[in-house]
Amino acid sequence: MERLRRLKMKQELRDMLQETVLRRQSLIMPLFVVHGTSVHDPIASMPGVFHVSVDRLIREVKGLKETGVKGILLFGIPRSKDEHGSEAIAEDGIIQQAIRAVKEAVPEMVVITDVCLCEYTSNGHCGVVENGVILNDPTRERLAEMAASHANAGADMVAPSDMMDGTVASIRAALDQAGYENLPIMSYSAKFASALYGPFREAAQSSPAFGDRKSHQLNGANTRDAMRALERCAAEGADILMVKPALPYLDIIARARQMFNLPLAAYQVSGEYAMIKAAAEKGYIDEERVILESLLAIRRAGADLIITYFAKQIVNRL
Ligand SMILES: [Zn+2]
Repeated sequence: MERLRRLKMKQELRDMLQETVLRRQSLIMPLFVVHGTSVHDPIASMPGVFHVSVDRLIREVKGLKETGVKGILLFGIPRSKDEHGSEAIAEDGIIQQAIRAVKEAVPEMVVITDVCLCEYTSNGHCGVVENGVILNDPTRERLAEMAASHANAGADMVAPSDMMDGTVASIRAALDQAGYENLPIMSYSAKFASALYGPFREAAQSSPAFGDRKSHQLNGANTRDAMRALERCAAEGADILMVKPALPYLDIIARARQMFNLPLAAYQVSGEYAMIKAAAEKGYIDEERVILESLLAIRRAGADLIITYFAKQIVNRL
């Protein structure tokens, strides 16, 4: 008789036979930076996540480095928003200031920057809008400028999240032209139009003033379309592909893992975070065990990197 239980009788043996392991090096912590000093404002829908000013960001990044987190993903909230998202490419923009400060204080930290206009535009859309439509090509040109400005400030990697066509190619060309041929691009390649981004939009103050993001983000029902989006980013020169959200799209992660040899990232998004936090607060689940299980599942599906708001909280348990 086949007795699978033979190998399950002893904790040590179970440990030895564990197939998937979560590593500290796999975690990336997203952080939201605002103007000002000594700002450390809680984000209501994401307990434990804060808006921080650059001085507090440095403190945060030093703490993360101590715990063994190797990478952060920075989002900037500008002083003021306008139609063109001007602060996105300003030399003294919030994100440019933040990059310079982090690279000076904690040079070892891998600083990845979000490249999209939705935090910066007054209409909350990801690109240049005309007559209610996001214009693809003017948007990718603008995002290429934005990426180059992050590189100038010292970013280690840029992460375009706009889901326009051709953005990765435009960014690659702009970086190469500016002498950053060794600066990698992590592309939000399969980004679904998900209801789980709600808390993030509060955090990034990036809700669209009209319409939605369905003209560029993926329909959650579509696998083949997601594969095309991943192929597009790979063909345009992305160095790392990403699937977002993570847990509801493990099949997409697993399929991407099989189809591509590029490193794969998954973004455990704000809604995934908030659901675990809320259930734990009510005492319905064991918070730490659920966090670890969710991250392990994402890793098992095939993600090399996991962008997660739990990075700081959970890293010491790995
Ligand atoms: Zn966007």
